[in-house]
Amino acid sequence: MRTQEKDRPEKPYGERPGAQRQRGMSRQEQEQMRRRHYLRQKRRRRQVMAAWLILGGGLLVLLLLVGLGVWAFQALRSNRTAEEGAEAVMQQEQEESLPENLSEKPPILEDFLTPNEYSRPGEPLTEVTELFVHYTANAGTTAEQNRNYFENLGVTGETSASSHFIIGYEGEIIQCLPLDEIGYAVKQHNYNSISIECCYLDEDGEFTQETYESLVSLLAWLMKEYHLGTDAILRHYDCGGKLCPLYYVDHEDAWEKLKEDVAEYIAAASAL
Ligand SMILES: [Zn+2]
Repeated sequence: MRTQEKDRPEKPYGERPGAQRQRGMSRQEQEQMRRRHYLRQKRRRRQVMAAWLILGGGLLVLLLLVGLGVWAFQALRSNRTAEEGAEAVMQQEQEESLPENLSEKPPILEDFLTPNEYSRPGEPLTEVTELFVHYTANAGTTAEQNRNYFENLGVTGETSASSHFIIGYEGEIIQCLPLDEIGYAVKQHNYNSISIECCYLDEDGEFTQETYESLVSLLAWLMKEYHLGTDAILRHYDCGGKLCPLYYVDHEDAWEKLKEDVAEYIAAASAL
């Protein structure tokens, strides 16, 4: 019995319903069925592979894009850092060149007057405790014209007047008297002060930016030379009441600002 049973084809466990039918099919049909199944599987494998390829390709593109973005960001950042670095170097160079410019004597053209009793008496100036600022009271005239006016007084004897420096409206500085000689600029103060005349263009007497800047640097240099504070900077007006320099008598705030600017200029020089 057992052997007979063994000879019988075994019924596979969990046989698919189609299998019964399959066993009933002809060899050709079975062959076709297997082929179809094989083709179906092949097609499915191809679809899966295609899906993987698409997914992989997409991932690759995504990675490339991210990489490109990171690279662009880094490049931009390093570029900006380089620019900032260059700016910082430039700024440092500017700052480094400042102390020299600030502590140096500003460019001054020495064109001393011919000694004469009306504008260059040749009397010694032994101490300097005050620095006077004036305006020429003659709008539009140049530093040279004003220097020549002082020079001519020696010939005409019209009046006694002079100053150590004249600043033109373009910022040029002419020195008319040596610093160890007195000038005739402020009554009662000629023997202890240095005077600066300023040219101007506007009728109100306001100095041009160029004149103003030269005045600030000249005052800073003189203060350093004579160890003076900003309280030594005076208007002609402060000693004698003359409306000179007009704009800075009319505008007290502008006068205070000038002294502040000189102080700042000196502070900037000594801080560096
Ligand atoms: Zn004056």
